[in-house]
Amino acid sequence: HRHHDVLIIGGGSGGIALAASLLKRQPDLDVAIVEPAEHHFYQPAWTLVGAGEYDVKKTKRQMHAVIPAKAKWIKAAVTRFQPEQNTVICATGEVLTYQQLVVAPGLALLWDSIPGLVETLGKNGVTSNYRADLAPYTWECVQNLQSGVALFTQPMVPIKCAGAPQKALYLSADHWQKNNRLNRMHIEFHNAGGALFSVADFIPNLTKQMQAYNAQVNLGSNLVAVDGAAKKAWFERKNADGQIERIEKSFDMLHVVPPQKPHAFVKDSPLSNADGWVEVDNATLQHPRFSNVFGLGDAMSAPNSKTTAAIRKQVVVLAENLLALRDNRPLPMAYDGYSACPITVGNGKLILAEFGYNGVLMPTFGNDPTTPHASGWYMKKYLFPRVYWHLMLKGHEILARPKRTK
Ligand code: FAD
Repeated sequence: HRHHDVLIIGGGSGGIALAASLLKRQPDLDVAIVEPAEHHFYQPAWTLVGAGEYDVKKTKRQMHAVIPAKAKWIKAAVTRFQPEQNTVICATGEVLTYQQLVVAPGLALLWDSIPGLVETLGKNGVTSNYRADLAPYTWECVQNLQSGVALFTQPMVPIKCAGAPQKALYLSADHWQKNNRLNRMHIEFHNAGGALFSVADFIPNLTKQMQAYNAQVNLGSNLVAVDGAAKKAWFERKNADGQIERIEKSFDMLHVVPPQKPHAFVKDSPLSNADGWVEVDNATLQHPRFSNVFGLGDAMSAPNSKTTAAIRKQVVVLAENLLALRDNRPLPMAYDGYSACPITVGNGKLILAEFGYNGVLMPTFGNDPTTPHASGWYMKKYLFPRVYWHLMLKGHEILARPKRTK
């Protein structure tokens, strides 16, 4: 079997940024990344792709081009964790051992869990910005639709970028408004959860945006089935008596965000918590039972909002703590739950929702964080992708250094 000092599972936003950060701090560290995919994606720009504002090709890079030169790439999928033996098993049967393990394989998108959905994705007006190959179709649908019913769905949280389901609605509606078509549209937002956003301070302005686009907001309404050819979708919601009722809706366009869960190989491992996420201490990101294991990004249990922006901060905490552990020093850093969700409420307008654990607002910039600004749009479209590729994935810390607690 192969052995590495630090084994990172997943070469997504978290895995690559952490490998780069560790190697910047300690260039001779033996770091390997286990990752089966040929390509790495900058997913936050898919929302802009769905609005015709970003070239999808620019969101995709070869995996070998983003893996740091000093890190080893093991091109395989992990199927099992055996933390008692400091071992992971790959689908190829290969056995890998480690001194420290970082688990960052993201989460699973459950497209299959909605009957009828997979067959119709990419046709019949059914689309999703949650896949690179489908985001351009969102823009095609938005441009082609002259009038009719447009439905936008959101599953139960936690999901990655919890603002993205409504971003798709705002940007589509904005296009129809600018082309004098909004009055011929009937727009509905169906959110399986009970609130428009997880942090209450942002809800009033988001509600105003929904009203400005004449969009009907349905909370507690969960997409359960689709018939693309018939252009029908079914939702379940609890009625006043607490009974679950099924509601049929006809649509001309349907933007779906799929239910999201921990990967099965994480959930069914000794590393998971009761909900199936990689269990971590919310502050140190260290596993509570296996001290040489850490969790990072969408895959882990901390109750932050799952975003790349959150990972930008987690990486610094994790890199410092992991290296301290290797030196038998106390873990020096604590993650405060920081996350940022740039909510595109219209083309050229954005609410940069930045917050930490328990919904505490954590604005980086001075202006009122709950109101839309043009500056945020330009940051999202031009600045953030550059920060991602050139700084975050290279191990630099831009506005990223969390406070030392010890
Ligand atoms: P990922 O980046 O998803 O990477 C996981 C990696 O693990 C993948 O490369 C995968 O191939 C690999 N993997 C999977 N299974 C295995 C296995 N068995 N073995 C080994 N490797 C495996 N974030 C923001 O900050 N701002 C935004 O505006 C924003 N908007 C978004 C909009 C959309 C439409 C989407 C989809 C996401 C958005 N996000 C946004 C969220 C952000 O993209 C994710 O939070 C982030 O990519 C998570 O990083 P990760 O490393 O945890 O997982």
